Amino acid sequence: MPFKQLVKFHLFCLILSLFSLPLAAEWQTEDAAIMGTTIRVEVWHADADKREQGINSVLNEMERVNRLMSPYIEDSQLSKINKSAHEEPIEVDRDLFHVIEKSLEVSRLTDGAFDITYASVGHLFNYRKEIKPTEDEIEQAKQLIDYKNVVLDENQLTVRFLKQGVKIDLGGIAKGFAVDQSIQHLKQLGIEHALVSAGGDTRLLGDRRGRAWLVGIRDPANTEEAVVMLPLEDEALSTSGDYERFFIEDGEKYHHIIHPSTGKSVSEVRSVSILASDATTTDALSTSIFVMGVNNGLELLNRLDGVEGVIIDQNAKLYYSEGLEQPESAANHNANVK
Ligand code: AMP
Ligand code: MG
Repeated sequence: MPFKQLVKFHLFCLILSLFSLPLAAEWQTEDAAIMGTTIRVEVWHADADKREQGINSVLNEMERVNRLMSPYIEDSQLSKINKSAHEEPIEVDRDLFHVIEKSLEVSRLTDGAFDITYASVGHLFNYRKEIKPTEDEIEQAKQLIDYKNVVLDENQLTVRFLKQGVKIDLGGIAKGFAVDQSIQHLKQLGIEHALVSAGGDTRLLGDRRGRAWLVGIRDPANTEEAVVMLPLEDEALSTSGDYERFFIEDGEKYHHIIHPSTGKSVSEVRSVSILASDATTTDALSTSIFVMGVNNGLELLNRLDGVEGVIIDQNAKLYYSEGLEQPESAANHNANVK
C-alpha cells in the first residue's frame, strides 16, 4: 500500500502513542510542565527502580537545560549573554555553546531562515497577553536580526555580539536538544524503549516492544485530531505549527514564528513536521522550513540526507519530501506497522 494512503487515515484520538495507557506494568509514564511546555516521558524496563530513575533523570535534565537557556530566568546563562555579550565575550557552559553553534550552522544551511537573533523583534511580543510591537518598533528592532552578529570562540567557549541591542532566543532548538540529552541519559541507564517529548519535539528510543510507536501530526484546523499517523522507531519528529502560540487582532494572526527579514509572523504554511535521527536537528529544521515555505522548504529537505518532512499549507494541502513519497523508503517505514 502506498505510504501516503497508509498514513493518511484520520483518527479520533490525537496522538495514539502519546495518549494511550501503558500496555503493561513494565511501562511507566510521567507528564510535567517544564520549559513552558508539556513534557512526556514513557519508559519501559522490567525493573521498577530503573524506570523511576529514568523518568527522574529526564525531568532533571529538562530543568537543567531550562535553567541554562531560558530567556525568562534572569540569571540564566542565556540572559547573561543577552545582557552583556556586546560589551565582552561571555564564557558559557559547553552545552549552551553547542546549541548556539548548531543554531548558527542551521542559519547558514537555511540562508538565514533560522536565526536566533530574531529575538530582538520576538521579545517585543507577548502572545499570552496579546501584546505586539508597533510597525516602527519592528522596523528598528529588525535591523539587529542577523546571526552573523553572534561570534563564537570554541577554544574559550565564549559568545560575543558585534552590536549593542542584539538578543538571542533558543526557543526554536532548545527543546529538541533537551529531548536528545534525555534520550542519552536513558540509554546510559540501560533503558532501550522510551518516548520523550517536549511540546512538539519527540524522540523515540527503540520500538514499543515489538511494534512501532505511532506518532500523529496534528490537523492545524482541528488540533484535537491527527491528519497523519507515522509509525516510527529510533527516530525524532518535530512539528512547528501556527496554532501553538498566537493571538488574533483585527482578523490578523500573530504567531510565534518570525521571518528574520520582515520581523513578522510567517503565514504561507500552517505546520511543518520533520523526521531525522536527532531532535536538535528536527526542532531547528521544523522552525526553519516553516519560515522557508513549501517550495524552498521541500527543495532543502530533498537535498538533505536522512531528513524527511511533511508540510501542511493554508489550504490544508499536504506536501511530502521525496523520501516519504518513494515506495522503497515508504516500505521501510511500513515495515514498522504492526
Ligand atoms: P518551534 O515551536 O520549535 O517551531 O519554535 C518556535 C520558536 O522558535 C518560537 O517560539 C521562537 O522562540 C523561535 N523562533 C521564532 N522564529 C524563529 C526564527 N526565524 N529562527 C529561529 N527561531 C525562531
Ligand atoms: Mg523547532
